[in-house]
Parts: sequence; C-alpha cells; structure tokens
Amino acid sequence: MKKLNRERVNNLLAGIAQFGKTEKGITRLAYSEEDFAAQKWLLDQVKDLDLQVTEDAIGNLILRREGRHTDWAPVAMGSHLDTVTQGGAYDGVLGVVGALEVMYMLQDEQLDRPLELIVFRAEESTRFGFATIGSKIMAGVGDPKKFSTATKKGDLSFEDCLRESGYDPDRYSEAIRNKGCFHCFFEMHIEQGKVLDETGEMIGIVRNIAAPTRFKITVEGLADHSGATPMSFRKDALVTAARLILAIQEAAVKESENGTVATVGIVEVEPGSINVIPGKVVLWVDLRGVNEESIQNALKNINGAVSLFAEEDEVLITVDMLTADKPVPLSDELAELFEEVCREGDISYRVMNSGAGHDAMHMAALAPTSMIFVPCKEGISHNPREYAKPEDIFTGIEVLAAAVKRVAVGR
Ligand SMILES: [Zn+2]
Repeated sequence: MKKLNRERVNNLLAGIAQFGKTEKGITRLAYSEEDFAAQKWLLDQVKDLDLQVTEDAIGNLILRREGRHTDWAPVAMGSHLDTVTQGGAYDGVLGVVGALEVMYMLQDEQLDRPLELIVFRAEESTRFGFATIGSKIMAGVGDPKKFSTATKKGDLSFEDCLRESGYDPDRYSEAIRNKGCFHCFFEMHIEQGKVLDETGEMIGIVRNIAAPTRFKITVEGLADHSGATPMSFRKDALVTAARLILAIQEAAVKESENGTVATVGIVEVEPGSINVIPGKVVLWVDLRGVNEESIQNALKNINGAVSLFAEEDEVLITVDMLTADKPVPLSDELAELFEEVCREGDISYRVMNSGAGHDAMHMAALAPTSMIFVPCKEGISHNPREYAKPEDIFTGIEVLAAAVKRVAVGR
C-alpha cells in the first residue's frame, strides 16, 4: 500500500474550506452554488485517480474505481460536503477527503472488489429541516414530497430546489438502492463530541448511532393589543411555549443517564411585534439517544406536558412529527475489524456510540456498515472553531485504508 500523502490531504481539506468561506465560518448549504463549486473543484483535483464519476437522480455523487471482479458488490465509503450555516471545515469533508486519500493509497493494489466513494447530498438539516436527505433517499426512506414539508418561510422547498438544480423530483426513485448493493459501507467523521479529545484515544469505533426524533410544536393563542389586554384575558402563545421548552428540558434530563438529549433549536414567534401579544409560536424540537425506550419515555413526558398546558392555558397545541428514526446498530464484524487494525498498528481506540446522526445510519439498511471517529478539539462542531489535528486525521485515514484493503480482497 502506498504511503499517505500528508500534503495532498491538507491541501484538499484547505481547498474545500474556501467554498462558502465567510468571516463567520463556512456556509456551504446543500445544493447551493458553493456546494456545486466545491464538488467540481474536488473532482478536478483528483482527476489522476481516473475514477468513474456518476450522479444519481437527486445528485448524490458516486466515484468508482473498478476491481478485478467488476460484478462484485463494491466496498463503499462516503460522507458529505454540505455544511450548516457558519460551520467548520471538517464535518463531512473529512470523510470525503479521507476516502479519496484511501483511493490513492490503494491505487497500485490489486483489489478484487470495486471501490466506491459517495458524496451524499443534503446531510445537514439546515436548509430543508431534514437531515441526511441524500442517504435517506438512497436507502428508500423518504421522498422529495416529504422533505418539502419543513420548508422555512421564503425558502425553496426541497422539490423546487431539485428542479432548480436540474434534477427531476418525480424521478427520485431511480436513486433508491437495493439491499446488498454494497459489500459494506464505511464512513469516517470527526467525533463532534469531546470524548476522544478528553480521553486522548486516537480512534473511535462506532457501535450505535443515535437517531434524531424531530418534531414541530405549534402553539396557537390569541394575538392581542399588549396595552389594552389585561393579564387575565390573555392567551399568550409564547408564555405556553416557554413552559413547553422547560418541560422538554426536564423530560430529557430525566432520561439523561440513558444518553437521551433534547433541544429546542428554533422558536418562531408571530406576529413578532413589541406591542402585540404573541398569537402563534412554533418550536422545533430535536430529541435523540441510542436507547429507543428512553427516547419513547421522554416523548411521552413531552406529550403529557403538551396536553396539560393546552388545557391550563386554554390554547391550541399541535405536534407534527418530522422524523422519528430509530437508533441504528452498526456492524459488529466490521467494528471488530477496525479494532484489529488499531491493535496491529498500536493505535489507541475506544468503542463508542455516536450522538450525532450520519449518512452511515441509512447505509446500514443496505449493507454491513461501520464508522470511525477522529478526535475533534473540545468536541466543537457546526462552528467555525471546529478543528481536528492533522496527525489524528492521518491516523484515521490509515486505519480506514487498512480496513478497506482487507475487505476488498477476496470474497
Ligand atoms: Zn457530518
């Protein structure tokens, strides 16, 4: 196997970070001009790999290198290039650049299986309110109509965005893959938590991925004059929403020993005027964990608070489920393979769970899937301060390359 080329890895990471760069971080939203430009630039950089480049019906990019047996299921790797608003340079990008470097390291190897790298579209939920859209569609869980239900005011829906980007949303099903389409799937990612940064271990081997349950809570009260309406006559939607936010926090704290967490990340207030009592509030809630029962417990408590406050405050409260994914166990066998590779290379590692969702959780429905984490500084991600040390990145890529080589040779 060829040696990892540090300069190339650094250059690719730094190069992609230029797309969408602003004073306040990197904003490279899914299907944006910057997203397309970053992909195009990256493909230009790796022309010498001589990969076969295709795109599926919704724009997931597939880069393939042939194996000795062209009809054998490929060993696939992948991650994403889109970012949140004002994000960092490593989330997703690391998995794409790392997989490309693996392709370089294995360039002269005789592999039985083809290798594929998938650059998934719209992994971040920032633009459309749904996460991992590209991999969800590929795995057959969800369609453009569904992903258009959380469109924010003044934004393009997912369907319209597809159309505008030159794809036909009616043909989305052509992007769906069947079980067994890959021999296996690997994703390398920054941890996005501070476990490895604090323990000093170099690699995280992921056994389960926590899945987000996401929902919208709409509170409808009565918009009224802020001066002329006595306190006892009010139906202030924001006051009820504030009680709900606390109840959501409490529900998650109760389940925190099982690793469950909940966040209200968006509060929309209408009409949003200083002299009007808020008539309508929408809360966007993200609840997740690796323990299905614990997530259900938290959800039950939140729903209990919804019914109670609706009655007490005499307001109308509706809950719209956006996503309710189940926690995903990854392949034991591949995790053991990563453990073996780490042990042989004298690389410290930790077997752990992922609190964040990833494209890998949908690929797990199509093929045996595994993920490795590299440490990220202070656990900070989705932030311009997101950082992973070059040495840790190189170690992650070397571990991935060793694992890919093993599964790509022989049946
Ligand atoms: Zn990511």
